[in-house]
Amino acid sequence: MERLTGLLRLPDDIISQILQYSPSYSTLLSTLLTTKSFYRVFQAHPNSILHAINFREIGPSYPLSLRRLRYMAPVLDCEDADRLLAQAVSTDVICDFPITREERKEMKEMEDKVTQLEDLFSFRYLDRTSVSSQLTPEESWRFRRALHHLTLYTCEFPTSRYPYIEENDRFTETEIQVQVRQENRRRITFLSDFSAEELLEISAVLFFLEELGVYVFSRTGLDGIRAIAIPAGPEILLACHYCISDHPIRQHVKDIEKIVAYHPFLESYIWTPLLEVLKQREFREETESDYFPWNFISNRIHQSDTQCHQCKDELGFDVWTRKTWTPLATRYRQSIYLPHRAYTITSVCLSMKDRLMLNGLESEYLRSAIGDFESDDYLTRILGDIYDYNLKLDAFADWDKDDLLCEDCFERFLTEHLHLWIRYNRSLEGEIAKDCPYGYRCKLQGRYDPEAGKASIRGFLKEHQESFNHLCAPIAQDTQDVALLIHEYSVANQVVIDLSSV
Ligand SMILES: [Zn+2]
Ligand SMILES: [Zn+2]
Repeated sequence: MERLTGLLRLPDDIISQILQYSPSYSTLLSTLLTTKSFYRVFQAHPNSILHAINFREIGPSYPLSLRRLRYMAPVLDCEDADRLLAQAVSTDVICDFPITREERKEMKEMEDKVTQLEDLFSFRYLDRTSVSSQLTPEESWRFRRALHHLTLYTCEFPTSRYPYIEENDRFTETEIQVQVRQENRRRITFLSDFSAEELLEISAVLFFLEELGVYVFSRTGLDGIRAIAIPAGPEILLACHYCISDHPIRQHVKDIEKIVAYHPFLESYIWTPLLEVLKQREFREETESDYFPWNFISNRIHQSDTQCHQCKDELGFDVWTRKTWTPLATRYRQSIYLPHRAYTITSVCLSMKDRLMLNGLESEYLRSAIGDFESDDYLTRILGDIYDYNLKLDAFADWDKDDLLCEDCFERFLTEHLHLWIRYNRSLEGEIAKDCPYGYRCKLQGRYDPEAGKASIRGFLKEHQESFNHLCAPIAQDTQDVALLIHEYSVANQVVIDLSSV
């Protein structure tokens, strides 16, 4: 009680400071309920206290995040559009205008996407072994600021501002050039508000996003879609990256097929005005050979570890190594373009070599072995065993678990060894059946049906899979005559197999 009385005697500005350090809205509410004098101080300065709490909760880019949100608001056709736009233009005035619960939620979502892009940036250029950002607070701030600034630009010059113009309605070539020049002047005016340092940070983020666009759209997407990716906005590109598809951008940009074919206003969307403003600021490009555009965000980037340690291919945005294979495996949604990339339990089974992936008995064994693991980190357990118990094939003798691998090499290693891992585990549990001469290429590996009777093809496959081990390389030289084997089985078991049930 004595302590509480002491608090009551504190000057208002100290109470205001205490309230600003509340870790969350709910803590603030609890504090306000303790005493009337606290509530009185809060009522006198509600916005500055709430903004301070938001700042700590959302991070240093909170004012930019709020600015961006309010900048976007008029586009959403909200009631208070004009006032919100006026608020957005200057970050200095945001403290005079309380934020809504909806805005807090949206800002958190926005910051979450910025974090994901920062993670990708750090992983791509700074540290290949961590999927979480390793940027220092200062570098992180530069990245986030640049990304917010770039998004503000894409809000000011959205793709919807440049609808597709039908061929008949197009002006002459000269008229179009005049219009493009006028638009460029507007863009230059917009960018002129930023300092040279901020513009260089934007250029670094642009290089990063363009590289991400190349990575995503080289596997899928319309020709020329990359030119639309930056104007569509960084978050749309992030969504495309996660599903390795151009679907999000197609949903976002109306008439995209036509726009890709004809887009005079998007061709020099940001680079031309950006370089023009930098020229006005008398910026000179660095000539040192080890200087990269990303150095405007972090000068610790030296572009090492750019190649797969095994095949020497350029490593893109995914690098498979001991510390990353599990987070990468869960990062991507299953994609029609890269079916194995999301290593769910089902797709791990599909990574088995040759026709083993059809072998119901072994798939079931693998599925249940993974299900019995104490942790969900099954890739680390399986790959760890392969390395630790030396199950590696001779051809992989120099492979190391800390190698930085491309997706193809990682998949190849898993495919070549998964059956050896199953075989190793089966051998610990008991004797293994004799090897089928056709090994993992055997054609009698099909849907496994424990209940199938002798007179069905599934019964025949079941008996074969249970009688022979297929977790081995083929040794037979001849072609497997499946019809003859079925015939021999029918005679031996005195049954007629109905092949129409296959
Ligand atoms: Zn490779
Ligand atoms: Zn076989």
